[in-house]
Amino acid sequence: KTLKLKCTCIFSTDSSRAMHVMPAWVIDKYGNNDVLRFTRNASFPLITYPNEVVIKVHAAGLNPLDVGMRGGYGAASMSMKRDPLNLKQSGSEFPLILGREVSGVIMECGLDVKYFRERDEVWAAIPPWKQGSLAEFVVLSGNEISHKPKSLSHTEAAAIPYVAATAWSALVNTGGLSKDNCGNKRVLILGGSGGVGTFSIQMLKAWGAHVTVTCSQNAERFVRELGADHVVDYTAGPVQEPLRVMEKFDLILDNVGGDTERWALSLLKPWCGAKFVTLVTPFLQNTDQMGLADGMMKTFVTVASKALKHLTSGVHYRWGFFAPSGPALDEVRSMVDAGQIRPVVEKTFSFSQVPQAFAKVEEGHARGKTVVQII
Ligand code: NDP
Repeated sequence: KTLKLKCTCIFSTDSSRAMHVMPAWVIDKYGNNDVLRFTRNASFPLITYPNEVVIKVHAAGLNPLDVGMRGGYGAASMSMKRDPLNLKQSGSEFPLILGREVSGVIMECGLDVKYFRERDEVWAAIPPWKQGSLAEFVVLSGNEISHKPKSLSHTEAAAIPYVAATAWSALVNTGGLSKDNCGNKRVLILGGSGGVGTFSIQMLKAWGAHVTVTCSQNAERFVRELGADHVVDYTAGPVQEPLRVMEKFDLILDNVGGDTERWALSLLKPWCGAKFVTLVTPFLQNTDQMGLADGMMKTFVTVASKALKHLTSGVHYRWGFFAPSGPALDEVRSMVDAGQIRPVVEKTFSFSQVPQAFAKVEEGHARGKTVVQII
């Protein structure tokens, strides 16, 4: 089948077989922003499995994970996902394309794809072991994508999928929250002004929860406009002091890490199923530093011992992880199109400005999301 795609046809020197290429930002080794390289000759992504689709990327969202992956964060675990039998040489992931969020248009569907058609507008969060969206095309599985909200432009839509899938996994799958049980819940979000926080505030408010947020003083108005009921400025002094005098919480989402788990679990209602879910875990760092087997063992022992320790105080301690999910994005799309969740795009960059976009994410102090317009 011939694709009407804007890709170039050249002949590879080694096999003399025709090979399609596309423009992309790639890295050939891990490092700082200098390793980002623009090329017009990145390999065109091919459909390998019948449930996959080729998406023409219109916009790509960036996240702190992209900055981490540029520097090699998570490389050991991602290699295992890409090459479970460890058949390939080290470094076989290069040239690596970053970018974990995409909004675009389907150009081709594998034979088993039923729910999507060519020319459908879709959005998706891209698993970190797959090639990313800082490219003209990306290949994803049908179960990882979802129809894009009609009310959003591609640039707006690209600001949501990764943070939405992360928040969904942490709050719904791990935290046990849903639109039907949030009405009487008090939720504390530690770190409400970034990508995950701004999405989580809106989703929880749409579900009727009472939401308290910690953030810098200069973000207070911003998070209130997204729906936060109470805001605590963490820069004004030890943040746990004003939080301790408040009514206790049913769930805490920790986007901050560090010493939060030393004091935050005491803010939960004991013996009624309350949960502390942190997104800041040492899992990938452990596997990078100790190798897969030892790193996973250490991770398991750490999380199990912490969960057990806190269980004796009547509260649940959990780690939250991003999980790609088209069905979760379908639910989010309904909320977006119903006006319950809006994209929070802090800054947009053109495709030629990808290094500047990385520098923006790397400097921290996010107030929502950074998005790259690919076309
Ligand atoms: P962002 O960089 O978008 O946002 C972080 C926000 O936290 C910024 O607005 C920052 O603003 C604020 N902040 C920093 N320090 C504090 C503090 N002590 N108290 C309150 N707010 C603070 O990150 P994301 O929202 O995308 O991600 C949040 C965390 O979750 C990151 O650590 C990320 O790595 C992790 N994560 C983990 C995933 C997983 O699978 N486990 C998946 C996705 C994210 P300011 O500095 O101005 O206060």
